[in-house]
Amino acid sequence: MSILPPTEENIHLAGDAIRAGKLVVIPTETVYGLAADATNRRAVESIFRAKGRPQDNPLIVHIGESKWLEDLAVDVPEYAQRLAGEFWPGPLTLVLTKLPHVLDEVTAGLDSVAVRMPSHEIALRVIREANVPIAAPSANKFMAVSPTRIEHIDPEIELGAEMILDGGPCGYGVESTVIECLGDHPRLLRPGGLSRAKIEEFLSAPLVAADHSERRSPGRYPKHYAPRTPVRLVSRLGERDAGITFQVPQHRNQLQLSGSNPDEFAANLYHALHVLDERSVSEILIETPPETPEWEVIWDRLRKASSS
Ligand code: AMP
Ligand code: MG
Repeated sequence: MSILPPTEENIHLAGDAIRAGKLVVIPTETVYGLAADATNRRAVESIFRAKGRPQDNPLIVHIGESKWLEDLAVDVPEYAQRLAGEFWPGPLTLVLTKLPHVLDEVTAGLDSVAVRMPSHEIALRVIREANVPIAAPSANKFMAVSPTRIEHIDPEIELGAEMILDGGPCGYGVESTVIECLGDHPRLLRPGGLSRAKIEEFLSAPLVAADHSERRSPGRYPKHYAPRTPVRLVSRLGERDAGITFQVPQHRNQLQLSGSNPDEFAANLYHALHVLDERSVSEILIETPPETPEWEVIWDRLRKASSS
């Protein structure tokens, strides 16, 4: 394994490695992804092994052009086509009825497949070089905090990868928004980088939440995105507490991510969790943000990080 700058040549090598069935860590606009050829069963299996990810947790397939969707999904609803037209490339994943040849290993045996086209230039170039759709979950061990910078990548993940492309910090810093597009209306399965407000404004309608009881989207575990150090949500950090604060930090183990800008907070949240996890603190306390719609994705990740 080697960490490489995203030069023309290295992007070419990354494409070759993926086509040869190897794992490659790539930057995306959400988080770093562990990428493999989504049409190669053994390559997909090696993602699950490297991450220690349960087989029943389906992967997102990343495409290099919108028209690649025709090789993955059928009966794409009109609203889904409009969403893709508006928000691709970008941090929006659409769950669609799959074509029979899409691997069960990718979809965890479901009859649907999750697809997105990333907007990160390096990710797009690697996918187009590989010229195959790629499965690319976050490049971390199962349940751990996703890497948003190269230094967050777990040594075990590094060992399993043929190469790592260094693209600097990820812009969004949280995973993609996942929308189920199987019925008459789109349904929100997971809040993410693309805000509900932008989607609702585009649809001119409120986005219905998916019925979680149906188990239509396996892989939504209550605990997820969690550091090794226990996390607790509080209204205000005490003077000596370690954690994330909206106030002026009182010492080095208190980090302030942003005043009141949720995008900036999201972009820095995982980095802060990685940093605090590396310091010998017994508990990470996080001051809760306002309970307003703009903070939805942050609340989702904070709840999962602090769930026991
Ligand atoms: P990630 O763990 O960020 O790679 O995102 C993958 C998540 O997307 C899974 O954990 C599911 O929640 C969701 N997902 C992927 N494929 C499907 C699918 N076919 N149906 C519903 N949800 C899916
Ligand atoms: Mg993940």
